[in-house]
Amino acid sequence: MREYILYLKEENKTTQAYITPCFAVDKLFWEQQDGQRLHIIGRSPSLAIAFMLREKMNEHAAEGPIDEAALRRFRKLAESCVRETNLLYGRETKEPKTWFTFSADGGYGTPASKEIDMIRSQAEKLSAMIAGRALLWDEVARLGEQRGEVTVGLEEPLQWLVLQKRAAWQPAVSLRLRKSWLRHRLQAACERCGEQAAILFSFCHRCRQGCAYCPTCINMGRSKCCTPYICVSGEVRSGDKVRRSGVLAWKGALTPLQGQAAERARAFAASERPGGSFLLWAVCGAGKTELLFPAIAHTLEAGKQVLIATPRKDVVLELVPRLQQAFPTVRVLSVHGASTEKWEDGDVIVATTHQVMRYYQKFPLVVVDEADAFPFHGNRMLYRAVQRAAAPGGKQLYLTATPPPVLRKRLAGRTCGGPILSSSTHVLLPQRFHGHPLPVPVRIKVPRLFDKIRHGRPVLPLLNPIRESLRRGKRLFLFVPRIADVPVVHAYLRRQLPACADRIEGVHAADPDREAKVLRFREHRLDLLVTTTILERGVTIPDSDVIVLGADNPVFDQASLVQIAGRVGRSAASPDGLVLFLLEKKTRAAIAAIREIKRMNRLAQSLRRTSDAG
Ligand SMILES: [Zn+2]
Ligand SMILES: [Zn+2]
Repeated sequence: MREYILYLKEENKTTQAYITPCFAVDKLFWEQQDGQRLHIIGRSPSLAIAFMLREKMNEHAAEGPIDEAALRRFRKLAESCVRETNLLYGRETKEPKTWFTFSADGGYGTPASKEIDMIRSQAEKLSAMIAGRALLWDEVARLGEQRGEVTVGLEEPLQWLVLQKRAAWQPAVSLRLRKSWLRHRLQAACERCGEQAAILFSFCHRCRQGCAYCPTCINMGRSKCCTPYICVSGEVRSGDKVRRSGVLAWKGALTPLQGQAAERARAFAASERPGGSFLLWAVCGAGKTELLFPAIAHTLEAGKQVLIATPRKDVVLELVPRLQQAFPTVRVLSVHGASTEKWEDGDVIVATTHQVMRYYQKFPLVVVDEADAFPFHGNRMLYRAVQRAAAPGGKQLYLTATPPPVLRKRLAGRTCGGPILSSSTHVLLPQRFHGHPLPVPVRIKVPRLFDKIRHGRPVLPLLNPIRESLRRGKRLFLFVPRIADVPVVHAYLRRQLPACADRIEGVHAADPDREAKVLRFREHRLDLLVTTTILERGVTIPDSDVIVLGADNPVFDQASLVQIAGRVGRSAASPDGLVLFLLEKKTRAAIAAIREIKRMNRLAQSLRRTSDAG
């Protein structure tokens, strides 16, 4: 069990509190400088408690020499603080007991296991290894093992870096006493993902203390009170940059409109002004990935790294080979939960959102793909992770067909109630790469739609368009709002359309055969796929039609309906198709989605007219 020592450093009559897992290293460090005196206050197995006490000590650090009486005062203060935390933790867990221990005594801990030169050289290796990372203690250890570097006594070189202010550390879940006139309470926060409300208070068998943990990011390894969370800035010094030229091997051509949008994004990435965000707003099927190439190429040629954050693993897997082909001389890494490359370093890193949390102040350019689609409530976690992964002064490029209101308002602004085509913070590309307009959805009201389906009655506004699509040899996505609807609608269609019953399937997120079914659909061994919103974006199948059953259900918001409609007419050979919204009642989302699609078509048309006239 690790213990954390809380001590005061007295220098020129000012006092500051420090925490260390290895006091001997701190002694070695401070001995290099003159005029310091160190006083140990006590020790705790809980890192969160140690940090809370450090804050308390610093608040109360008065001027004047630290004598025995002053030390007693500090120890008393620490003990009363721990008592209060025990009380509040007991209230949270509804189990009053001693959750945290703190031994207020002096002593000097164990001596350093290594010579100072050894610690120094290990610190250099460690710093190079974790630069640009934000990692839990166990992850640092695993990384060290994998690289064949420092593995035992990691505390000592790490503490050396902390004392040099080259690394920062804190408990992965921190505790703070919040005092108010109404009542005092204990506030816990996950330093990795930013979660506060959902933190769970429990007992830990590792530190044998109260130890709150974060359930929100638990699939990345448990973030908890006794685990150190270590952040090391990864900004590359300008001397280390390797400039190169001609990294972009892609020989395709952009349409004039695509070219303008891509140039805007490149100019943003290349501008001398540090920081800032830019919104690349391009309708579904505008050829988004290619629009990024000039901005990525510019950044790589300046010797810098690019991070592309994207919501889902499927998108990572699809994007990496395309980028590697476009940039054959650079290293493109695929970073997701199961990826073997996630601990390595590359030039372009394509990562799922959770993995973005493992980077810290590293990337001069962060691209956020499908900024509205991240599977997080309110996207707060994503924005936080992206901000932390960007290098100081780094730029954030948001790429989406359906910008969430917060981005739209902040970056696209408004003139006379309508979005403008471009500004210094955004560019809007309303036209698809093949130049044809977006298919406009048709809205049909069917009262008691799902009742009729459940009772097996024929719903002609559903069955007739399906028959027509299949007769024309199209493939059909049928979106339903709930997972439970998938088997019901699937069975209903098999009964109503016996001739093609074997070519109808249903999928949802938890379906183990999901990938196989999508593949069969892609290869046209299936005609009709009943699906939840999991296929609303990403999956592109040429020559397909779309029906949304129950488009009035709240799971289909405006962005989701625009994305679904965007599945249709993606190829130049077949730029048109059916988009049908069947609903029981009128909803604002469906109306707004149709209005938005029509507006994009109008904008594209007026742009074409202007360019024809010019
Ligand atoms: Zn968390
Ligand atoms: Zn613990």
